[in-house]
Amino acid sequence: HKYVYDFAEGNRDLKDLLGGKGANLAEMTNLGLPVPPGFTITTEACQAYLATGREPDGLAGQIEAHLESLERGMGRRLGDPHDPLLVSVRSGAKFSMPGMMETVLNVGLNDRSVVGLAARAGGNERFAWDSYRRLIQMFGKTVCEVPGEEFEHALDEAKRARGTTSDLDLDADDLRGLVDAYKKIFLKHTGRDFPQEPREQLDLAIRAVFESWNAERAVLYRRQERIPADLGTAVNVVAMVFGNLGPDSGTGVAFTRDPASGAQGIYGDYLANAQGEDVVAGIRNTVPLQDLERLDKRSYDELLDIMARLEGHYRDLCDIEFTIERGKLWMLQTRVGKRTAAAAFVIAGQLVDEGLIDLDEALHRVNGAQLAQLMFPRFQLDHDFEPVARGVGASPGAASGKVVFTSARAVELAAEGEAVILVRRETNPDDLNGMIAARGILTSRGGKTSHAAVVARGMGKTCVSGADEIDVNVPAKRFTVAGQTVHEGDVVSIDGTTGKVYLGEVPVTPSEVVRYFEGTLDPDEADDALVGAVHRIMTHADAARRLAVRANADTGADAARARRFGAQGIGLCRTEHMFLGDRRELVERLILARTDTERADALAALLPLQRDDFVEIFREMDGLPVTVRLIDPPLHEFLPPLEQLAVDVAVAQERGEDVAKEEALLAAVRRMHEENPMLGLRGVRLGLVIPGLFAMQVRAIAEAAVRVTRDGGSACPEIMVPLVGAVQELETVRAEAEKIIAEVVGDSGVEVLIGTMIEVPRAALTAGQIAEAAQFFSFGTNDLTQMGWGFSRDDVEGAFFWRYLELGIFGISPFESIDRDGVGRLVRIAAEEGRAARPGLKLGVCGEHGGDPESVHFFHSVGLDYVSCSPFRVPVARLEAGRAAV
Ligand code: PEP
Ligand code: MG
Repeated sequence: HKYVYDFAEGNRDLKDLLGGKGANLAEMTNLGLPVPPGFTITTEACQAYLATGREPDGLAGQIEAHLESLERGMGRRLGDPHDPLLVSVRSGAKFSMPGMMETVLNVGLNDRSVVGLAARAGGNERFAWDSYRRLIQMFGKTVCEVPGEEFEHALDEAKRARGTTSDLDLDADDLRGLVDAYKKIFLKHTGRDFPQEPREQLDLAIRAVFESWNAERAVLYRRQERIPADLGTAVNVVAMVFGNLGPDSGTGVAFTRDPASGAQGIYGDYLANAQGEDVVAGIRNTVPLQDLERLDKRSYDELLDIMARLEGHYRDLCDIEFTIERGKLWMLQTRVGKRTAAAAFVIAGQLVDEGLIDLDEALHRVNGAQLAQLMFPRFQLDHDFEPVARGVGASPGAASGKVVFTSARAVELAAEGEAVILVRRETNPDDLNGMIAARGILTSRGGKTSHAAVVARGMGKTCVSGADEIDVNVPAKRFTVAGQTVHEGDVVSIDGTTGKVYLGEVPVTPSEVVRYFEGTLDPDEADDALVGAVHRIMTHADAARRLAVRANADTGADAARARRFGAQGIGLCRTEHMFLGDRRELVERLILARTDTERADALAALLPLQRDDFVEIFREMDGLPVTVRLIDPPLHEFLPPLEQLAVDVAVAQERGEDVAKEEALLAAVRRMHEENPMLGLRGVRLGLVIPGLFAMQVRAIAEAAVRVTRDGGSACPEIMVPLVGAVQELETVRAEAEKIIAEVVGDSGVEVLIGTMIEVPRAALTAGQIAEAAQFFSFGTNDLTQMGWGFSRDDVEGAFFWRYLELGIFGISPFESIDRDGVGRLVRIAAEEGRAARPGLKLGVCGEHGGDPESVHFFHSVGLDYVSCSPFRVPVARLEAGRAAV
């Protein structure tokens, strides 16, 4: 079995096997770009190792063979005392997991080869000893679990002894001393000397990278990002090139476009005389990439040239890591770069303009989650707020919250429901929990490529990094800025788009994208490239999609907003809101009615109120279908809770008041009490049990439609019966409704459809029969999930879903994203059997899933006619319906 691939043997399509980094190194190698030679150990080898706890048979021999060929190509042997080949051992999974797994640099150095390295570097002893101490430090930490602070501490000691704060001031002797100190630390913690045998170093480093797949922070990151747990990581063994050989060397990262805004230009950070992760870790302050032109014009020009080639080749924004060794440029990594939501839209639009992709492809380059992010509000800064600091706008959004300084405190306060801003000098992978819990992240160091920035962008969380006017004091739980001190618990506001930091809570204003959707911002007039790009891509999505998008709305105001957002009708108007507020008393009268007359009076009082509500909605939705659902919740939900009522009655009795009415109410509440109300007297069952209730609603709908039509409008009501499980239920309701409709509508020309929700599993399984009596189906996937899984939708998410997610029983709550295999199968069966019985049967969905991107793709695939979701999700559903169709 082949476990090891030379870079020249791979290509970018082999990400499953070679990981993202390995596949792209192979691709660059084959493009003829200057990639240091090396090979990749496959994810399969990692999977085998993780399954059995030992390297699979044959792996060692294949590594040997590839190492030999690498040595031949380089003309050096690994760890040779006179002229050593050194290698880096780098993790690289299929999906990028920035900073989550391990890397060991300078493998091959030992007490003898360090001398050879110095000689080869033109007698640069400082460089050789610095490389050696880095190896012991990284190897100790990642391979042997030596606590990193011990090395940090020894390094600080060495600097203190020198009277400096900069690594660069340490000379060769200092670093040689540091190597001794590090070796002692290594011995103390591992009970053995630092391994001198290069091949042993290599094997142990490879094993440590395999194992880092299951490091706690990596597991957490995968869960957050929904990356499957069984993929494993590949391991790249790459000939070392050195950015720390002197001022004519360095290392940097670059983006072919601005990953925050999408703007074209040259973006990146460069750090002279530095190695490896120094840039990403934000340890020293970098210079903008443009400065490289002054420092090393030849490398700069070559880099720009390569960046242009990579963009043309990948037809997308690429990010790049590179190193310059004594004026020679080396490419260490590239990939299609992560970007903010805004940049995703802007770049997709630009690439279309440049002829690199077409509009279908542009639609695939963005998604509904990104669009949803762009609809967040922003800070409203027209009054008194002056920023106290400005950092890098690392991940957009506007966030206010209480300042905390540790991950643990962030988690604690967030659990109490507080909005918190995590403030750190810089973050590292151990801060992941706190970053997840926080509303936003503020750091005083690091650029767009720092850990904080990369991880926050991935999470869609607001982040300002590198706000260096802020002086963070974690132990004292405070930071100072502009002469002011901010303590834990004080409120700050951060703007992840502009990088500005404010003290106190800044009010927010709606996003430009929302203003565009609402029609108050003309895309041609917006000076923002984003609005233009959104407009263009949305227009294409609308043209491409087969699914219509409706909204769930039950007031005129919601209906109006939904329509502005592009809703093509209402898919669910829940009528129960019309029984709340002042009208509650009428419901009480209905429930307490002892005679037909009393009941008829109560219903007659409700009728005009309902009719007026419908008139308003039909007017707003003029010409578009409006699905009105007859009342669904158990009626006792409209009455006071039993315990409260019992106490009130007892107290009133004690005072000698007349409580006849309250007693009657209490008796009714007792009578109507249900142990499992969601499985009780609700939906169609109410209609069959409470005489006149549905009839009143049907009459109100029909009268409202007639009135709107007579006034010159066009009302298209669709009456929907909830919770049907058997066709007989629907037939009974329908017969009565049709009589009323015929009577009210007369010759007005109004047409009223009658259909049903499919939200009880039995309805889905007998859809063929039900379709005989229904002019349309709308899938109520909330209840269908509740009853399909037997999960109480009001209880389970807080109660135990965390455990289910942890165990991977499902990757996301089935109430959030449709469970394709189970609940989805019910939908599929009902759609097929319903259409078989009644060709052309109109099918929609109105559960929460209608606005979930993944679910929209599923509903497209089973052939529904429309999805219906909350007004604010309508643009997201339009976009995803377009993506599903191309
Ligand atoms: C449903 O069950 O999916 C639905 C839309 O109805 P409700 O959420 O009102 O129960
Ligand atoms: Mg329901």
